Amino acid sequence: MTGTDEDDVRPTSLAAIDRAIHQCRRCPIGLLDNTAVMGEGLKRSILMVVGEQPGDQEDRAGKPFVGPSGQLLDRYLAEAGIDREATYVTNAVKHFKFVQRGKRRLHQSPTSGEIDACRWWLDSELAVVRPKVVLALGGSAARGVLGKSVTISRTRGHPIPLDGGGEAWVTAHPSYLLRLRDAKKREQERLFRADLAAVAERLAELSA
Ligand code: SF4
Repeated sequence: MTGTDEDDVRPTSLAAIDRAIHQCRRCPIGLLDNTAVMGEGLKRSILMVVGEQPGDQEDRAGKPFVGPSGQLLDRYLAEAGIDREATYVTNAVKHFKFVQRGKRRLHQSPTSGEIDACRWWLDSELAVVRPKVVLALGGSAARGVLGKSVTISRTRGHPIPLDGGGEAWVTAHPSYLLRLRDAKKREQERLFRADLAAVAERLAELSA
C-alpha cells in the first residue's frame, strides 16, 4: 500500500497533520470503517505521551485517551504530579485497527509494518511540538518513537536520546495494567508508578 503524493510533503502544522491523516491510506488500517484520531495538546509541550492506537471509544469520540486506559493514565499522571493539560498526547498509529464481532469492534494490535508506515505522522508531530521528553506507552509506541522493537523490561527507567532532539522514556501501556490481576498487577503498577515518577523528576530538571 502506498501513500498519496501529498503524503510525501511533510506537514508543518498540527492542523495540516490532522487533515492529512484523515486522507492517509499508507497502510490497510485506514481502509477500515474508522476515523483518524489526531494527537491533542499544546503546540509546544515539554512532554509528549505516545500510546499505541485509538481504541473503540477514541475512534467514536475522535479524541485520544478518552477510554478506560486514558482514564487510568490520567490518574497516574496526576499522582506523579504531571499536568495532563500541559502534555501533548498522541498515538503511534492514528487509525483504530479492529475486527468486527457482532456489534463489537475488537482491538487488533498493529503490525510492525503498520507502525512504521504511521511513523511519518508521529515524526511530523514531533517536529512541530518539539517535546524535550517523549514517554512511549507499550511496545507499539516504543517502536513508533524509536523506530525499532525493544523489550520494555530492559528499556524502561532511563532516557534514550532521540535523533531529532529530546529523549524517549519507555514504560508499559495502561491497558496492560487493566488486564492483570493480583500480585502481577501490583508489581506492574509499582513499576509504572516508578517510571512516571522518574519522568516527572526529569521534567523538573529540564524545566529548572
Ligand atoms: S494508521 Fe497511520 S499509516 Fe495507516 S492509514 Fe492511518 S494514518 Fe495512515
